[in-house]
Amino acid sequence: MSFQVFGLPVSRGVAIGRAVLVASSRVDVAHYFIAGTQVRSEIERLRSARDTVANELGTLQRDMPGDAPPELSALLDVHLMLLHDETLSDATAHWIRERHYNAEWALSAQLEVLARQFDEMEDEYLRERKADVEQVVERLLRAMARGPSIVDATTSEARDFGGADPLVLVANDIAPADMLQFKRSVFTGFITDVGGKTSHTAIVARSLDIPAVVGAREASRLIRQDDWVVIDGDAGIVVVNPSPIVLEEYRFRQRQIELERERLGRLRYTPAVTLDGESVELLANIEQPADARAAIEAGAVGVGLFRSEFMFMNRAGDLPGEDEQFEAYRAAVMAMEGRPVTIRTVDVGADKPLDRMSMSELRHEHALNPAMGLRAIRWSLSEPAMFRQQLRAVLRASAFGKVRLLVPMLVHVSEIRLTFEAIGRAKQQLTDANRPFNEIEVGAMIEVPAAALILPVFLRHFDFVSLGTNDLIQYTLAIDRADEAVAHLYDPWHPAVLQLIARTIAQARAMGKGVSVCGEMAGDTDFTELLLAMGLRSFSMHPSQIAAVKQRILRADARRLVDRLPVVLGSEEPASTCARAFAVGSPAAAVAG
Ligand code: PEP
Ligand code: MG
Repeated sequence: MSFQVFGLPVSRGVAIGRAVLVASSRVDVAHYFIAGTQVRSEIERLRSARDTVANELGTLQRDMPGDAPPELSALLDVHLMLLHDETLSDATAHWIRERHYNAEWALSAQLEVLARQFDEMEDEYLRERKADVEQVVERLLRAMARGPSIVDATTSEARDFGGADPLVLVANDIAPADMLQFKRSVFTGFITDVGGKTSHTAIVARSLDIPAVVGAREASRLIRQDDWVVIDGDAGIVVVNPSPIVLEEYRFRQRQIELERERLGRLRYTPAVTLDGESVELLANIEQPADARAAIEAGAVGVGLFRSEFMFMNRAGDLPGEDEQFEAYRAAVMAMEGRPVTIRTVDVGADKPLDRMSMSELRHEHALNPAMGLRAIRWSLSEPAMFRQQLRAVLRASAFGKVRLLVPMLVHVSEIRLTFEAIGRAKQQLTDANRPFNEIEVGAMIEVPAAALILPVFLRHFDFVSLGTNDLIQYTLAIDRADEAVAHLYDPWHPAVLQLIARTIAQARAMGKGVSVCGEMAGDTDFTELLLAMGLRSFSMHPSQIAAVKQRILRADARRLVDRLPVVLGSEEPASTCARAFAVGSPAAAVAG
């Protein structure tokens, strides 16, 4: 039966593929295809993990103290029975043999199937056995992680097999750091039940440049393993088991999008200059050094935001040391071949937890209000040794290219003072240790209304400012950016938001300081003309968005746009006013052709 699920569009385009349901707690499991010649050894890996777990359970049973409750032994019996049950072992081998999934993926796929069967059971006792299967699978996954290394998934045969049926991932939630691993994955689209348009999961999905829908509420419950699914990333619609006509229509759109993409690709080396000769800097947002390649290929003239926190996340307690960070920053700097790289100090907290606790746990059990808690610079200042380590690593990278430092979430003058003291101390330590570094520009993120309202203070201390519109909208409107329940109220067009942005740009320019936007608004073509009209000349976005924004800039007449700005800013309905004022067919667009 065909049906639709509605969510929030976060990453444009159309994906068509078979659904792969993954439990949120298992999205960190590796997903890749193996070659046909590797099937046998992959099944062997699974068997050997099963033997290891059987031994573990046997040992546990043998060493059980005499006074242990009898239920414990019975439980181990159940686990042993499940371990050898054909619904787990044979069916998992089937995924490997027929689909060429790697063993971990096959195991989680089969767990999903079993979990659903358990959920549907009438008998409460049997329903609760789901937890036992999960525990057995957990043991198997751990055994495989300790076992012989994983086969090379990059052989051409494996890649070819992956081309058979495209796959889309369906999960209740994916933590942003887990999303990162999908940069090199087999999935051509994503659907999650939770999340807002500028949640970090959505941001990373967007950076993958594949269609995605978040906040689709019941999607992971309604969609079944292997269902054919269309993801309309422009409209935020998921069509499950589409009819042939609908499918054909979406395939047609897919081809059109591909053609448009190719056309835009030709703008790569065209400088971003408006019709009236205003040069605009188009920078890239990256999450890891490897993303610098995509930035260069997209024609970025530098990195405007390196979200360094992704290096700190999912590390089971340990944090990256100075040398590890230095290597990563240097890699990004070198990859950008002389172009500037803006490294933001660690911005963990809220929907970017340090460890792998799931988003829902984070939301409900930990900080009462994590977006307003000990996050970003607040956390850095509370961990001075960690902060100085990061500052030293960034400074050391400056010896290899043009580095700029960006500090997130500043609000208080005292935080500004402490930040500069920490920078001063880090420099002194490097000087004492004879480590080379260059003087670097230091900038502040403007992402809390309080910072925007006292901007002159910031401009006195910093070399440049960068508007973090994602958080600025969240804090101005009191809307959790990651909460799909209030996503309809998360409105970048709210007049208060626009006024804060316009003021920040105008004041920074008046004081001769650099100002850019690195929130998602910068890469959204609905805002390109408006931001140009406000005087913005530096935009930082995902590499995949650069070409489309550049096209709008090439067609814009900045002077004419400025004339229309007061109408938009004075409007109660800026979205529609803006659409009219800057629309195709308006004199500005006519000039642009
Ligand atoms: C922002 O808040 O706009 C921003 C760029 O930072 P992040 O999305 O990482 O919070
Ligand atoms: Mg932010």
